[in-house]
Amino acid sequence: MPTQADAVVVGGGLAGLAAAHRLTELGVAPLLLESRGQCGGLVFGAPVGGVTVDLGAESFARRSTACAELAEQLGLEVVTPGGESWIWGTDAAGERGRAFRIPHGVLSIPTDLDDPQVAEALSPEGLARARDDLTMGPEPGADAPDLATLVETRLGREVLDRLVDPVAGGVHSVHPSRLAVDVVSPGLHEALAEEGSLVRAAASLRAKAPAGPLVASTAGGLFRLVDALVGAIGDGGGTVATRRVVTSIEKVDDGWFVTHHTAGRAPDPADPPVPTGNPEQVHTPTLVIALDGRAALDLLRPLEPLAIGDWELPRGADLAQVCIALVKPELDAAPRGSGLLVTPGAPEVTAKALTHYSIKWPTTVDGTNRHVLRVSYGRAGQPTPRPSLEDALADAATLLGVELSVDDVVGHMVIGFPNSLPPQTPEHRERVGALTAAAAELDGFEITGAWYAGTGLAAVVPHGRAVAEKLVVKHDDDDAP
Ligand SMILES: Cc1cc2nc3c(=O)[nH]c(=O)nc-3n(C[C@H](O)[C@H](O)[C@H](O)COP(=O)(O)OP(=O)(O)OC[C@H]3O[C@@H](n4cnc5c(N)ncnc54)[C@H](O)[C@@H]3O)c2cc1C
Repeated sequence: MPTQADAVVVGGGLAGLAAAHRLTELGVAPLLLESRGQCGGLVFGAPVGGVTVDLGAESFARRSTACAELAEQLGLEVVTPGGESWIWGTDAAGERGRAFRIPHGVLSIPTDLDDPQVAEALSPEGLARARDDLTMGPEPGADAPDLATLVETRLGREVLDRLVDPVAGGVHSVHPSRLAVDVVSPGLHEALAEEGSLVRAAASLRAKAPAGPLVASTAGGLFRLVDALVGAIGDGGGTVATRRVVTSIEKVDDGWFVTHHTAGRAPDPADPPVPTGNPEQVHTPTLVIALDGRAALDLLRPLEPLAIGDWELPRGADLAQVCIALVKPELDAAPRGSGLLVTPGAPEVTAKALTHYSIKWPTTVDGTNRHVLRVSYGRAGQPTPRPSLEDALADAATLLGVELSVDDVVGHMVIGFPNSLPPQTPEHRERVGALTAAAAELDGFEITGAWYAGTGLAAVVPHGRAVAEKLVVKHDDDDAP
């Protein structure tokens, strides 16, 4: 016999948690089904060398206030990062690596070409070319769908290669030519039309953003947001069921049947859990699909009105991260601030980024003598990285300019993120647009998640909350006399 739920949310990453939490606020008690043993998806923490640290996402962009407001509402303190960010690039001779600070900007598009940090990043010729942007009028690049075309058209190749590629590519793990401008920097095109210059457009977006750093987190680690959300959903009358794999959904006249199984370990522990045991069914008038993209498409494919067909997500990058806890007083001086993004092909290191996590988020190591470094590897289209502790220490020593050895290490963890962050290409966004139109025809049904809403918590959290609101409003309208 199927059980009954007022609403079902499939997937307990931040999108699903945000949707389920908003449903409880609106007086609907959801059942959230999550296949892993814990919620949070790509937001999770674990102890490394005696301190509990974020191992997946660690911050949210402040361009939307949704994450900070939610965190504060849940009683968490919102903190901004310590230390400046740097880029690891190539010296003028093209032989050695060199570190320079990231100029003030949007995805490293500078907001002021007279900023000395821009001159430090570019050659005199590169800077002169960038200045063309100030006088070329709004048309060039106005229709550029991808970030690389926009930046190269307006500011020239050097700004693209030396500033935007390491930052945008570091955050999204693909070249900016595969990033839709409107998704990775909403409002930039519109600001270009108004300001007639990409530099002034970046400045106007920064002026509209909250003052201070572009990102924030919750004191003690972002993973605390997950625990707080799970607690609040329970307090609001909802149920969070972990180790439940959803295997199918079916539309019926009065709602949806959702079939789920106990989750078992996949033969390769890096793979998602697999269904085991007898199926269970729940009937609900209101369904939210909040899965990662591949799982979502597999579940949605049989729903004919959605016309998913043979749509597969663009392949993401195979990423790996070495998280290292050390006792090393020489790191107290924060030699590279909160960390560095590495320009693709830059010499002397194979890492793509280093975060000096304990400098960036000092509340995570309060009262200890620990330093925590997160050294990241892997870019789209490259072989799966398999870094060792020794590889990561060697890269960290080069990037930070401090000698490091295994004797300094008090704990470490290597984590793989296979096929992660499917790129938000313009084609992908088009398909999502068509899917949104088709899904709007299905009663009591919404889709959310990073693949659908845009990568990053600043996109995912407000979208999850918004779909919950839409469902409740629709439901109330349907019930109106
Ligand atoms: C290494 C890394 C670092 C990142 N850092 C940042 C950062 O600092 N800031 C930022 O804003 N973004 C960051 N991101 C991106 C951000 O983490 C994601 O955009 C966001 O967390 C995605 O949330 P989601 O809920 O859409 O998906 P997910 O977190 O992937 O959640 C989907 C959930 O669905 C569950 N699931 C899958 N299949 C089933 C099934 N059949 N039945 C039930 N449950 C199922 C999964 O177990 C998972 O919990 C990072 C991403 C990576 C990979």
